Amino acid sequence: MNVRVRFAPSPTGPLHIGGVRTALYNYLFAKKHGGDFILRIEDTDSQRFVSGAEEYIIEAFDWLGIAFDEGPHKGGKYAPYRQSERKPIYKEYVDRLLKKGLAYIAFDTPEQLEAKRNEIPNFQYDASTRLSMKNSLTLSQKEIEDRINAGEQYVVRIKIEPSQIIVVNDLIRGEVRVNSSILDDKVLYKSVDQLPTYHLANIVDDHLMEITHVIRGEEWLPSAPLHIVLYQYFGWENTMPRFAHLPLLLKPEGNGKLSKRDGDRLGFPVFPLQWQDPKTGEISSGYREAGYLPQAVLNFLALLGWNPGDNREILSMNELATLFALEKCSKSGAKFDYKKGEWFNHQYVQLKSNEEIATMLLETSSHCKIFQEIADQARNNNAVFEKLVKVAGLVKERVNFVKEIWEQAIFFFVAPTTYDEKTVKKRWKENSAVQLTELTGILESIEVFTAENSEKIVIQWIESKEYSLGNIMNVFRLALVGEAKGPHIFDITEILGKEEVIKRVKRAITIIN
Ligand code: GLU
Repeated sequence: MNVRVRFAPSPTGPLHIGGVRTALYNYLFAKKHGGDFILRIEDTDSQRFVSGAEEYIIEAFDWLGIAFDEGPHKGGKYAPYRQSERKPIYKEYVDRLLKKGLAYIAFDTPEQLEAKRNEIPNFQYDASTRLSMKNSLTLSQKEIEDRINAGEQYVVRIKIEPSQIIVVNDLIRGEVRVNSSILDDKVLYKSVDQLPTYHLANIVDDHLMEITHVIRGEEWLPSAPLHIVLYQYFGWENTMPRFAHLPLLLKPEGNGKLSKRDGDRLGFPVFPLQWQDPKTGEISSGYREAGYLPQAVLNFLALLGWNPGDNREILSMNELATLFALEKCSKSGAKFDYKKGEWFNHQYVQLKSNEEIATMLLETSSHCKIFQEIADQARNNNAVFEKLVKVAGLVKERVNFVKEIWEQAIFFFVAPTTYDEKTVKKRWKENSAVQLTELTGILESIEVFTAENSEKIVIQWIESKEYSLGNIMNVFRLALVGEAKGPHIFDITEILGKEEVIKRVKRAITIIN
């Protein structure tokens, strides 16, 4: 059997990060089995359609490096992949159900339905109530025709047989048994826009597109019994796809479903890319714009609800695809530990070469004018770029995001003109100026200004004079950096170069004294 899975988002806004995880699991499953991964746009709800959402979805997966084998942007044997372009297909299948008496036409207006709800507690449109409603089961053939000819709008509802046991065999949740009496006669089709609802379109398309596994969020589990009934009504039980309902993504604290508000409250994105609401103009942050590497996002998401069975965490896409198994997905919700996401990004930054990081830095300098100037210089001057490469290598271990390297590295490019007051108070001793002046002489004498050689010579000098190593190193650092931070001091001196180091030490002596 050729595995075929689909990701079937509704273009109702930006794609939530939970949707990205659903797509990723489908993708990994397809890769593992050498199958096909299909994008299907479920745009049958015209009320909720948001323009730009489909483009957003495609761009997001492009950025993540998740490729579809078929889809509206790629075409394929089962096209069209946009449900709004498949209207005649659904009509045909609705008619089949009507003809077989497995569905019926209903004319009840919203007001009439509302009145029923007020009249009957917990009203449900089903076997117990359908015969008291305005539908093709209760009206004469003539009245039905008259109403339709008069242009009255109607819906088509599925006719659910009560007291049947429906068994959902879920690959993650196991066997779930449901009594059909709890199901209602869901609307399958609406005359007003001649469009099917999700339930009908989903089943017809999964069947026609030869989908073998439906991997989707847990919120769809309650719809699965209805879907199974539809497969039975169409006579497609033998080719029915296997179901796998993924656990919810939970708030970082673990109570309740992850929402956009959690991201706003705690400061992390819940969307892959930044999104601007076309109506309100409101902007929501995205992982891409926040500086996440796509591989880090995917690795992070892959482990939210699944793990390889040991404690390995950093896994390439190939490893993930090899190891992935629906049976190993967890049944319970996965806490969205966004700090872990930052940790993954840190790990993936470390895996980048220093050249790659420097190149990325050129693209992420816009948050500060000085950074921009340095980036411009690096673009035009190879020596500056090479310096950026070295600096990146030196400070990358201190950051979670590439752009944070700028703050860590700025002193390599711009000499301090002021010195952190607290550090001066604490570290600058009576003899610091004399010692630093002596140090400049030592630095002058060093011929090979590498970290290793400079360190050896400076330490020799300190020892021969019986100075305090700590005192000297602290003020030396203060002179070079302007504060008590930064990487190993002789790594700094090597990158700054002899001339610049001596200049900075001399200037510190003048200014601080
Ligand atoms: N269109 C549905 C959604 O937006 C698809 C659910 C499914 O995968 O069946 O999530």
